[in-house]
Amino acid sequence: MPKRTDTRAFEVTQPLSKRDTVRAAANAKIPRWYNPWVHLAFPSLVGLGMITASVALLRAPTWLELLTVPVVFLLANFDEWHIHRNVLHRRTWPLEVLYWRHTPEHHVIFVRDDMAMRGTREFRLVLIPFYGILAIFVTTLPLTAALWWLLSPNVALLWVATSMGYVVAYEWLHLSYHLPATSRVGRSRVVRWLRAHHAWHHTPELMQRWNFNVTIPLADWVLGTTHPDTRRAA
Ligand SMILES: [Zn+2]
Ligand SMILES: [Zn+2]
Repeated sequence: MPKRTDTRAFEVTQPLSKRDTVRAAANAKIPRWYNPWVHLAFPSLVGLGMITASVALLRAPTWLELLTVPVVFLLANFDEWHIHRNVLHRRTWPLEVLYWRHTPEHHVIFVRDDMAMRGTREFRLVLIPFYGILAIFVTTLPLTAALWWLLSPNVALLWVATSMGYVVAYEWLHLSYHLPATSRVGRSRVVRWLRAHHAWHHTPELMQRWNFNVTIPLADWVLGTTHPDTRRAA
């Protein structure tokens, strides 16, 4: 068994001066050529393109095949919970980069009462690496092939469409929680409701135990990991 990552140093809300230092260091690492709009557009266009192609290739899906969509959504929601808790919050080979970008960086810079990015370049501190969506598509190809041959091409296509849609939703929602609460997107009812769940997770003292869903807090609800104060605070 690998040793559990010691994250105690990050489980304390840092004073603003310390957070600003971490923020400045993180921002200094962003290459000059970084374009936040390309970073946002790339996974969005890849995801929406995959969805369009998959749906176009469907051949008269049955109701049973269409059940793939809610089933994959449910599984993805639990997977999001698992990856967030066990990969983003605990160093896990070979995905250490995700831990370093999340626990000592994303969580130190953005805290419950200071969630907003200070400019579009900070998209880099919120979005997953731009190639993430392609990596997910490629690493799950064996599963896609298995569904294609063992169940049906329609099931495989619906799996691709739903999983890619999930990744895009994750990116858009997470980004929207870190927009200023006064912005047009930030003010919307849905975003406000979902942001409260994620903002509570951005309490360093609570982040290792509570509110791991970033999209819809379903797995948190089922597994009892929604912090009791989440809604009271919202
Ligand atoms: Zn966040
Ligand atoms: Zn987290």
